Amino acid sequence: MELHVHLEGSIRPETVLELAKRNGKTLPATTVEGLRDWYQFKDFPHFVEVYVAVSQCIQSAEDLELIVREFADSQAAQNVLYTEVTYTASTIAKYAGIPWPQQRDALRRGREYAQSLGIDIRFILDIVRDDQDVAIATEVLDWVRDGQSDGLVAALGIAGMETAGTAVYAEVFDAAQAEGIPVAAHAGETAGAESIRETLAVTHARRIGHGVRAVEDAHLIVQLRNDGIPLEICPTSNVCLGVFPDLESHSLGRLLDEGVVITINSDDPPMMGTTLTEEWRRVMETFELSEDMAYSLTMNAVNSAFLDLEKKAALRDQIRTQWPSPEEETESDEEQN
Ligand SMILES: [Zn+2]
Repeated sequence: MELHVHLEGSIRPETVLELAKRNGKTLPATTVEGLRDWYQFKDFPHFVEVYVAVSQCIQSAEDLELIVREFADSQAAQNVLYTEVTYTASTIAKYAGIPWPQQRDALRRGREYAQSLGIDIRFILDIVRDDQDVAIATEVLDWVRDGQSDGLVAALGIAGMETAGTAVYAEVFDAAQAEGIPVAAHAGETAGAESIRETLAVTHARRIGHGVRAVEDAHLIVQLRNDGIPLEICPTSNVCLGVFPDLESHSLGRLLDEGVVITINSDDPPMMGTTLTEEWRRVMETFELSEDMAYSLTMNAVNSAFLDLEKKAALRDQIRTQWPSPEEETESDEEQN
């Protein structure tokens, strides 16, 4: 299960180089090793520069389909049964001039490929805070509506520099709420608790991406717990972006102790030098989580997914049968009896 990962931030370095070559884009590196060095985190503006340059390597619907298919391969190899992947369609429309219907069809072909591997991926189309452009955001909402009919698009998202603020988009999120379109919003990563409060108030988000700085405000913790707002935590990403100096200092343990709903995610795996499997390994080791806790965090992700009850029940069954721990085998035996 994964709820917070970016499609453009997941492109294999080999594929980034191939797309750059194919589309005549110049990157500061021409080898996989060079690319990894360039990915090394310096500061947030450098990260944005890397992200935009990599996004600009996508120039056609075929490029887009290729990266969705490779993403599906990587999720399937890690046995991630269900993923909600964030994708910035407005950036691809802007830089590559690919109209939404072509993007949608490429995403759809990629999703069908994922389904042929026995997994499912659905997309969260995000608004970029930095744009501060209501016209673009309104268009993104239109695309979300368009992609919802067959489940291709799961939700509306928002990401980017938190200091830019969210208020300008209020009418877009009010419209989404009125139509029952779910929202997952990045907040509480590069800015503090106040940004989470503002984002929740403006976007009516059902999930918060990161939210790790919620620990700065005891009242906010109570609000998150009482309202059952899940946090999509991406531990290595938070360390890479300097939110915490190391994993040991990450607020994950405290948020767990406070009873906030937590899920584990990978954000931009190759850019952060990680994978979802590696995130789980690091978190379990650092916070000494038991198998039972890992199971319960996995179930948090099922419960927090933008899926209907029937699909959630099917995923729970699938996970329960595949879960390696002896306790769970006993439980599923009991259930069968
Ligand atoms: Zn993110």
